[in-house]
Amino acid sequence: MRQSNQLKANVLLLDNNPASLWSIREILKDLDHNLVEVMAGEDALGLLREQEFAVAIIGVHSSDIVFRQAAEMICGSQDHCTPIVILSESDNSAFTMDHAYSLGAVDFLATPSPPGVVRSKVNAFADLYKRSNRWRFQAERTRQLEGQLRTSQDEVNDFFENATICLHIVAGDGTILQANQAELRLLGYKPEEYIGQPITAFHVDEFTISHILQQLQAGHFLSEYPARLRCKDGSVKEVLIDSSAKFVEGSLIHTRCFTRDVTDRNRANKELQKNEARWNSTVGLLPELMWTASSTGEANWVSEQWEHHTGIPVSDLLGLNWLEMVIHPEDVKNTIETIQAAVEKDAAFLLEHRIRRHDGVYIWFRTRGVPVRDENNNTIYWLGTSDDIETFKDTEAKLTEADRRKDEFLAVLAHELRNALSPVRTSMDILRVPGVDAETVEDAYQMIERQVEHLVRLVDDLLDASRIVQGKIELRKEIVDLSTVVYQAIEWVKPMMTSLSQQLSVRMPKEPLLVDADPVRLTQIVINLLNNACKYTNSQGKIEVFLTRRNDNSVLTIRDNGIGIPREMLTRIFDLFQQVEQSGLRQLSGLGIGLTIVKRIAKLHGGLIVATSDGEGKGSEFEVQLPLAQLLPHRIPECGHAQERRVRSPTSTKILVVDDNDDVAFSLSTLLRLQGHEVVVASNGLTALQLLNSYQPHIAFVDIRMPHLNGFELARYIRKSANAAAIKLIAITGGGHPSDFQNALESGFDLHLLKPITLENVTQVLDETPHLPGPAHT
Ligand code: ADP
Repeated sequence: MRQSNQLKANVLLLDNNPASLWSIREILKDLDHNLVEVMAGEDALGLLREQEFAVAIIGVHSSDIVFRQAAEMICGSQDHCTPIVILSESDNSAFTMDHAYSLGAVDFLATPSPPGVVRSKVNAFADLYKRSNRWRFQAERTRQLEGQLRTSQDEVNDFFENATICLHIVAGDGTILQANQAELRLLGYKPEEYIGQPITAFHVDEFTISHILQQLQAGHFLSEYPARLRCKDGSVKEVLIDSSAKFVEGSLIHTRCFTRDVTDRNRANKELQKNEARWNSTVGLLPELMWTASSTGEANWVSEQWEHHTGIPVSDLLGLNWLEMVIHPEDVKNTIETIQAAVEKDAAFLLEHRIRRHDGVYIWFRTRGVPVRDENNNTIYWLGTSDDIETFKDTEAKLTEADRRKDEFLAVLAHELRNALSPVRTSMDILRVPGVDAETVEDAYQMIERQVEHLVRLVDDLLDASRIVQGKIELRKEIVDLSTVVYQAIEWVKPMMTSLSQQLSVRMPKEPLLVDADPVRLTQIVINLLNNACKYTNSQGKIEVFLTRRNDNSVLTIRDNGIGIPREMLTRIFDLFQQVEQSGLRQLSGLGIGLTIVKRIAKLHGGLIVATSDGEGKGSEFEVQLPLAQLLPHRIPECGHAQERRVRSPTSTKILVVDDNDDVAFSLSTLLRLQGHEVVVASNGLTALQLLNSYQPHIAFVDIRMPHLNGFELARYIRKSANAAAIKLIAITGGGHPSDFQNALESGFDLHLLKPITLENVTQVLDETPHLPGPAHT
């Protein structure tokens, strides 16, 4: 209700006599009231019904009956509650004081009344009216406030009861005073099972609730305090409690607790942590460097392996730091461009770049990045791995180098073969010239012989290198005195040194240096090294050979004052086909396999070889170390005594040569005939079989690779034939594969010779074949 016109009270003046009305107005006009004047009873009644008046003053005159009756009606009317004051002449017997009071008027003033009395009465009524108005207003206000209070109380109750968060109020002694639906629902209790109970009964951890209560009693506010509550069904809820206590005059009235169920969240967190731990341990096992990055290349996670590799803490590599700190400056541009192109295409990328290791060395890595997308197929980040491809790069470089060396080798080989074949070809032309003198013929033969020997050596070396590199040689070890080996090798290369007027000095130990080794292979080592010393030293140069003992090793040093070896090539010269670019003084021959063979043979004997040189033009030194033999007395050989060789005079032996290659058959049979033997040639295995009975040879030289009946099959047939069991069978092959030797022996051959067959081979075979016709062996 609005308090109407608070300051002024309405005062109704009713009088049908204008003069009386005027006089009463005059009396009241100075009062601060709102005077409403009417002259008709109905108008007054209407106003009284519609408005509130502090008082209505009705002037009643004895002369006017109608008006008097109107006044009487107003006085008695129930339609208003305005106090009525009657002003009437004292002699008005028709409207006496008694009559007025009986009608309901509250006052009666006989006119003329003193103005002060009239004013005082009106003021009293106005004041009364105002007071009652105020009371009414206050009563109304109070009612309103009560209503509001009730409403907000209802709202608080509703909020408490229906809040989605769990709430409870606990009394100072720990009794639960109130708990809302959410809390009861969470724990599964009915109100009567929870409210009124001690809160401690529902906490799993006694310490927790006593600590909570202690804290609250001490006036602390608890925020997100973790606790575990027991549910009715026995399960446990993990919650976070926010709580404070209400104190009145220092004593705790109650505590108010907000409880948030975090069981699922904790479970999810634990699962997340487990997954993270699993992910981290998986990532930790991977050798790759892993990362995730934004589309701008900023790393937001890098695996621990980054720290291991770079030595830089993981946190320092985030953002764009990785690009600036560890990528090789020459690779940064390509890295950025590749990533940008991939981001533009929104497609995976692959790039190779160098990443700095903790020791400052840059290592080649292959980095792969893939976009990781959300359910709407939008890329949210990039995931990548960086693999160490240093070994791969190294191997790739080695392969390229090996390939290059192979090409070089083929060129060198072609050159070497051509060099050897060209004089052969020319000599043959010389031999065809009619009437050429005997000396020229002899020179031509010698030339052919030298070149053929050279070619045979080349092929032998190649086969040897191939076998040695593949680890396919078998050492025939015996106790050997190294001095003997060195002397034999020197004999071998002496002609070359002499032809170049090179000066050789040799220093040998007094006592024998015995090694358990294959003498043929050892000789090969020394010959190769001496041969190189000759080749790579000027004519009149100096070559020194020392053999000494160092602890349990023999040390052979071959030093020359030749062209020397660049420092960076000192280890590489032992690689297959590796040759140093020579600005040689004379044309040098070689295939770049000699040192490879030397190194492998030394290694097979448990030894090693080292090359040193002060550089180009400063000479070279090769040192071969071999372990000395651990000897048992009976294994000591007689050193220094050349084995007596049986020498056999040429005599006539029946020999069968079987080869489908006419030239080979012709040259071998001619050589044998020239030695005084009887020779028959068969151009295939079947002819050979037919000849066996009729000719009955003592020895047969048999080619292996022949059509129809190959050498192995022929040997097996011969061995089965009763007449030919005693025949000596020699296999002659072009392939020196160990399996050829094995197959030959298994097929019944006595010996296996590699083509080309030399006079020495033939002599050796004949020497080693007993019961041949002719003079006795010496
Ligand atoms: P090659 O058949 O080329 O001599 P090697 O394997 O024996 O093959 O030697 C490899 C390379 O090592 C040679 O081509 C040469 O460049 C270098 N070399 C070997 N021995 C010597 C040496 N005594 N002096 C200088 N260079 C040498």
